[in-house]
Amino acid sequence: MKSHYRVVVIGGGIVGSSVLYHLTRHGWNDVALIERAELTAGSTWHAAAGFHALNDDPNIAALQGYTIRLYEEIERESGQSVGMHMTGGVSLAASDERWQMLKAERAMYETMEMQTTLVSPEEIRAMCPLVDPIGLKGGLFDAHEGYVDAHGTTHAFAIAARKRGAEIILRNRVLELQQRADGSWDLITEKGNINALHVVNAAGLWARRVGRMVGVELPVVPMSHHYLVTDDVPLLASLEREFVSVTDLEGFTYLQPLGKGAVLGVYERNPQHWSPDGAAWDYGMDLLPPDVERILPELEIGYARFPALAEVGIKRWVNGAFTFTPDGNPLVGPVPGKRNYWVACGCMGGFSQGGAIGLTLAQWMIHGDPGHDIFGMDVARYGAFAAQENYLRDMTRQFYARRFVISYPNEELPAGRPLKTSTVHDRLAADGARFGVSWGMETPQFFAPQRDDFIENLTVRRSNAHEFVGDEVRATRTAAGMFDASTYARYEVSGPGAEAWLDRLLSSRLPAEGRVRLAPMLGHGGKLMGDLTVSRLAADRFWLIGSYYLQEWHGRWFRDLLPKNGVTLKNLSDSWSGFALSGPLSRDIVQPLLGRDLANAAFPFLSCAEVDLGFSKAVLARLSLTGELGYEIYVPAPAQPALCDALMQHGRGLGLRHIGNRALDSLRLEKSFGIWSTEFTQSITPGMCGLDRHVAFDKADFIGRDGVLRERDAPSSRVLVTLAIDAAPGKTQDADPSGFEPVKLDGRLVGYTTSGAYGHWVRQSLALAYVDREVVADPPPLTVDVVGEAHPACILERPAWDARSERMRG
Ligand SMILES: Cc1cc2nc3c(=O)[nH]c(=O)nc-3n(C[C@H](O)[C@H](O)[C@H](O)COP(=O)(O)OP(=O)(O)OC[C@H]3O[C@@H](n4cnc5c(N)ncnc54)[C@H](O)[C@@H]3O)c2cc1C
Repeated sequence: MKSHYRVVVIGGGIVGSSVLYHLTRHGWNDVALIERAELTAGSTWHAAAGFHALNDDPNIAALQGYTIRLYEEIERESGQSVGMHMTGGVSLAASDERWQMLKAERAMYETMEMQTTLVSPEEIRAMCPLVDPIGLKGGLFDAHEGYVDAHGTTHAFAIAARKRGAEIILRNRVLELQQRADGSWDLITEKGNINALHVVNAAGLWARRVGRMVGVELPVVPMSHHYLVTDDVPLLASLEREFVSVTDLEGFTYLQPLGKGAVLGVYERNPQHWSPDGAAWDYGMDLLPPDVERILPELEIGYARFPALAEVGIKRWVNGAFTFTPDGNPLVGPVPGKRNYWVACGCMGGFSQGGAIGLTLAQWMIHGDPGHDIFGMDVARYGAFAAQENYLRDMTRQFYARRFVISYPNEELPAGRPLKTSTVHDRLAADGARFGVSWGMETPQFFAPQRDDFIENLTVRRSNAHEFVGDEVRATRTAAGMFDASTYARYEVSGPGAEAWLDRLLSSRLPAEGRVRLAPMLGHGGKLMGDLTVSRLAADRFWLIGSYYLQEWHGRWFRDLLPKNGVTLKNLSDSWSGFALSGPLSRDIVQPLLGRDLANAAFPFLSCAEVDLGFSKAVLARLSLTGELGYEIYVPAPAQPALCDALMQHGRGLGLRHIGNRALDSLRLEKSFGIWSTEFTQSITPGMCGLDRHVAFDKADFIGRDGVLRERDAPSSRVLVTLAIDAAPGKTQDADPSGFEPVKLDGRLVGYTTSGAYGHWVRQSLALAYVDREVVADPPPLTVDVVGEAHPACILERPAWDARSERMRG
């Protein structure tokens, strides 16, 4: 053990070992891993070590694919067997809805260029003779599933890392972490002190405790998990190959081969947390006592689906613990506000994701960029709220219990709510709002006025709320609609250095005083980091508006780049709030509240000003996401109810009404407007999505400039388009795209949708999609798979509504 390393990884489970390996593979060799006990001594040694590439998040699916492909390589490199069994895997559907869902999933995986196959009950039985096919509709087969040996795989990473120069220090607990003024860390360990520039918390079951060593509360908590191993099953005795792994989605169980027996694992609906603060420091490689009573309902379904298991005994019960985060994805990356402190924890699928986490973290540490869009695993996708005890317990419980339950695109889950409500929440509820949630904030999805009894049906097709959304869209196009802008993030940037800092941070030119601009913010490589609007309220004072749920993510980026002096950054997201109001009558509604003239000549499109509403000061900007004449009005949050009442007092008689997210989606798609997380993400370049028209290529210096200049010379292969989608032949149209549906030309994949909605005003099903550039030049007839069925589609050359944007500017 040396006294100094560039990086120390705390924890020698599958994740820490992979991080160590990837650091060395990408060129950093002055690195060490410190393990409290032996390698695998946390969750890792219990694992059934099954793996699969499929995941709802295409970026995570791609990374899981990387993990699986890596196994052969590390086996070769280390000389240590990983115990690979590439059995293939099949997910079962025992209901029409599930079958429909699997068809849609197959199409989604096709967009990720992952080939899965729909199989019949007979084919399933041939793949796994243990399955009783009664009641099955079919299944989804993926050849890239199987299992490895947990011990061998972890050691293969460790041996390969050691061969590349890494050091592994066993039986040495890290007791404390102390940061020096230069940002490096002193690790106080059982065997002495070490200094390291970077520390990685890969402490698995102990991750929360290792977070607390630096004053960080990580949203991660251990839960218990059971599987059983059967004796040899006679039915398998004559089988020449291993059976295909099976996930019984309706049964909450999974089945893997093990010799001539089987492993049956359970995701029970009544899950249990274990040691919420993290495992005790002296927790050994022990099993928890099996709690058969609790998992009995799922076991009964499992034994009914795999009846041959009942004929043999149970060799071994495994009840162990592993960690969960509120959404089940790991926590990876630099912890906001803690210099040189990184996490790679909260991983519930170490054998699908371990390699990917190692790759991501190593690239991030060494090159300053994770290399992919990994927002779904980024520790900064959460704020402090996520680690609150009740929230964390409710969310993780919900995630675990619903692991195999169908999720619908229009479903809003109940756990951890309400956590935050805007100051107008009760007014919106009184008008019939049905809420969803964004970063803990209740946000209206649609309004069912005077229909307290209305319950939306859960469906992948158009729901019974379709016409409520239509009413909101029509009201906005003919009168005005207002959206509670509590789920926008607001930042104030001020001071003598504000202009220079923002000029470098944002790729667009900065607006003049009293003006607003859409300002793409780029990462160092030239891909998107944000689609902010920037309003210049004074020479040295700006407001930035972005997505509410990106506050921690953007905050980390801002803070990393903020100069020491001359710029003050304030996050006003919760202290200020307001409405985005738009529609042809919106000027008539806002004008009476103000002393100043809102006529087009006096306050044209993209103007902003600080104004006095009489009852409150306010920031007013002329902007619109709907394509109609529109204003965003922000006031201190306690004044939002008064603003709501004043707008309604002037507007209700003119047809003003509240609108929700669904109406906004319909309205923005009619205008071909993209938004963050669907069209705009950190894997997209400005040239792909059309935001390059806001980039000031001639500016001498801004972050990402080299990347966008390169792209200007060599355009990306895919571009964003709007698609009009029609009914499938012989069918009535009752569904719209929701994202990640394949776009095809003569059956060949040429792109994928990012979001979709019914354009209630233009009466057309619409989608935004990235498609191959050559397809756009001379648009041919295309198809889009919607709920697994091919629908005719065509590229719209201009937005479906008001292509010249006259209404917005009028
Ligand atoms: C019953 C069961 C079945 C499972 N089946 C599967 C499966 O089929 N497929 C799958 O992908 N996953 C499965 N998992 C989950 C899998 O085990 C985890 O995803 C994985 O092991 C997490 O690895 P890790 O490295 O993050 O954490 P851990 O394995 O918990 O490793 C953390 C390590 O950090 C060390 N450590 C902690 N604090 C300190 C400190 N202060 N100083 C030094 N060292 C420290 C610990 O000793 C430990 O070795 C299963 C889990 C269980 C319990």
